[in-house]
Amino acid sequence: MARIIDHALASKSAPGCAPVSVLGATGAAAARGLAWDAAVEAETRGLYEKVAHVVTPAEWRLHAPLIAAINRLKRQKGAVILAHNYMTAEIFHCVGDFRGDSLQLAREAARTDAPVIVQAGVHFMAETSKILSPDKTVLIPDMRAGCSLAASITGADVRLIRQRHPGIPIVTYVNTSADVKAESDICCTSSNAVQVVETITREWGVDTCIMLPDEYLARNVAAQTGVRVIAWHGKCEVHERFSAEDIAELRAAHPGVVVLAHPECPPEVVQAADFSGSTAALQTWVGDHRPARVVLLTECSMSDNVAAGHDDVEFVRPCNLCPHMKRITLEAIHDALVHGRHEVIVPEDIRVPAKRAIDAMLALPPAAPGRFDPARPVPADLEVIGP
Ligand code: SF4
Repeated sequence: MARIIDHALASKSAPGCAPVSVLGATGAAAARGLAWDAAVEAETRGLYEKVAHVVTPAEWRLHAPLIAAINRLKRQKGAVILAHNYMTAEIFHCVGDFRGDSLQLAREAARTDAPVIVQAGVHFMAETSKILSPDKTVLIPDMRAGCSLAASITGADVRLIRQRHPGIPIVTYVNTSADVKAESDICCTSSNAVQVVETITREWGVDTCIMLPDEYLARNVAAQTGVRVIAWHGKCEVHERFSAEDIAELRAAHPGVVVLAHPECPPEVVQAADFSGSTAALQTWVGDHRPARVVLLTECSMSDNVAAGHDDVEFVRPCNLCPHMKRITLEAIHDALVHGRHEVIVPEDIRVPAKRAIDAMLALPPAAPGRFDPARPVPADLEVIGP
């Protein structure tokens, strides 16, 4: 497991995988005329209590001036911050107004009355917010915050797939660009993927669907349903790095550890885990079961964010960071609010059909967060397409 940093082994008191060095954070706040003082300490004391389990006092003195400034700017500008579970703890818990996975944030984007939305997540998430809220200003703090899944496929690819597979519904994971969603019949998240696949094939009266672009999610969904799934060859560069061998090593190093895996992991990882589910399902499982010791095989910050509310649970942290999510920092959020940058625009000829695919997903009745039974095998003949 050489490529994974195990914080639990490295140091009991190690904080989460903060993407900014201590020196960098000091300079970042000072460069913006912000500093730690008694007023900032008093203003942010209640927020620190939320993250004290995973953020050290020294780190907090660096983050707090930016956090205080961001929360003031939000009030001045009528802005809300949508914070994805993979944000670092100080962003997720201390400046996020709405927190959750892709599906939860998409629903909040559609509901909020705020004129400005700052997406503390990656670019496809900001596009989704703009698609659902065209009259609002949607900002992403760093335009380089991409995604390996979103980059694996284009709208032109989807048009070609439809030509080659007429009459088969196309289900697209929300981790895609707006032009890919625009060519799709319905979107899904890891929370509702099984429900979406079963609903759309029933409505179309077919036994097959195409599921884009995450090959592993498609394989794991196929294991949970009788629907025949055709997959695309995209991968999440974070989750694909976990292996069944990693799980064996974690179990040996941390006796009794409960292993939870996200379904973007390879199927052999899901099968070797004790439980598999969407981001929301993993969080719910920890809250419901309160295991003595647990490891979440997903993006590194997710463990910190769940750990912040469960100080009775020991989290083993094999740290796979998403480099795209980590481009979103407190400094970038601060500057996005100050300068009104970077505005996300989706042309109407893409936005309208993309919204149709998202709305088809949002119209489904709410269901419990998706759970994947590790005991169910992936069909051996599953077809994977792609260039
Ligand atoms: S964690 Fe994976 S799916 Fe999520 S943004 Fe990063 S690369 Fe994309």
